[in-house]
Amino acid sequence: MCEFCDIVQGKEQAETLFEDEDILAVLHLKPAYPGQIIIFTKEHHTIIEQVPDPVVQNIFKVANKLSTVLFETLNIQGTNIIVQNGTAAGQTIPHFSVNIIPRSENDGLNFQWATKQLSKDEMETALLELKAHTEGIHPDMFQKQKKTIEVKTEEPKPVKLDSKKEDYLIRQIIRIPRV
Ligand SMILES: [Zn+2]
Repeated sequence: MCEFCDIVQGKEQAETLFEDEDILAVLHLKPAYPGQIIIFTKEHHTIIEQVPDPVVQNIFKVANKLSTVLFETLNIQGTNIIVQNGTAAGQTIPHFSVNIIPRSENDGLNFQWATKQLSKDEMETALLELKAHTEGIHPDMFQKQKKTIEVKTEEPKPVKLDSKKEDYLIRQIIRIPRV
């Protein structure tokens, strides 16, 4: 079973700090630093690639706000906002999440990586391979934020409505099609 899904379903206890229809932010029970927050999707998605774009957008907006709260409430000098995407990246629970780790000078945590000296060829090969694929990414590919997809329905003033059902049908008809 999945630890985060258990929290969403109330089978596992957690201290909730933020919740909306898509995501849940809780206090991390095994933190690297006191006050560490973990945000995850309510739906089970293993890695970020599976998460719908509007939810990705939402989760990082909330991460930003919660990071600000950590700055304002704890005496810290930084935060790390981290996604461990896949077991090779240190992911231990197969459910997409974002960690916000409060940081202070000399806290003993180390997120630095040793840099590699690559040859010009290695750099160019990587660049060419990437470019061939990143050029196919276009702004129109992203799903719009849910809130903007919701269609505003105006009251059909000249039409007299006899029942709620008709009202509903008229609303359906005058809806602007989804893009
Ligand atoms: Zn899950």
